[in-house]
Amino acid sequence: MTHTANSALSEAMHFEAQRREMVALQIRDRGVRSERVLAAMSTVPRHEFVPANQTAAAYSDQALPIGDGQTISQPYVVAAMTQALSLTGSENVLEIGGGSGYQAAVLALLAREVVAIEFVPQLAEAARERLAHLGYANVRVEQGDGSLGWPAGAPYDAILVAAGAPDIPAPLVAQLAEGGRLIIPVGSAEEQNLLCVVKRGNQIYSETLFACRFVPLRGHHGWPLDSRGTNQE
Ligand code: SAH
Repeated sequence: MTHTANSALSEAMHFEAQRREMVALQIRDRGVRSERVLAAMSTVPRHEFVPANQTAAAYSDQALPIGDGQTISQPYVVAAMTQALSLTGSENVLEIGGGSGYQAAVLALLAREVVAIEFVPQLAEAARERLAHLGYANVRVEQGDGSLGWPAGAPYDAILVAAGAPDIPAPLVAQLAEGGRLIIPVGSAEEQNLLCVVKRGNQIYSETLFACRFVPLRGHHGWPLDSRGTNQE
């Protein structure tokens, strides 16, 4: 084996060990018990989704900056939100706030098809290239205002919103399939509650999972661009 191949291999093993520890200590020990979710979180190379100067912190217990004032969510939050969607593998999933593409990659391992909408054009382009390069063939990244959903792909069995909303956007409920689930942080621009919403017979039933801090949702059903939200912890 060449020296380069050797060091690439030891780097991969180093990240794999960090990932195993992340899943055990940050995710399983805090109560995420879905084996499918734990397996997906053990598989997706999170270090490929953070900027080069953040690689060493990729598996740490925090959100990290990904440029343009945006963040990749904390691993536990990604896992808990994903588990709340109860995916079995057959679902058509919509993600609002694609960011780095990390959450979309996790969803892609657990569902049939994923559409991720990202507001910031450079982030959308980077996520699209990264996901293609890593071989996630069942994810599509679209640039646009995800607070309006993505009607072309509706109905969705599951919708995950990765930015804090002032309220539940009506178009997202409209685009949810019967029995479908929507996970969304709702509250002020600084602080939200993570809601799990289920749609049954044109009624919605909502449950609060936990308090959280996400970057603000922009667009028609989001916060105006001049309202300063704090970055997610
Ligand atoms: N899920 C991402 C992290 C999301 S951070 C990951 O795994 O990396 C929240 C993202 O939501 C930011 O990238 C932000 O630009 C995006 N966003 C904010 N408002 C949006 C909107 N109306 N439509 C689509 N994306 C939006």
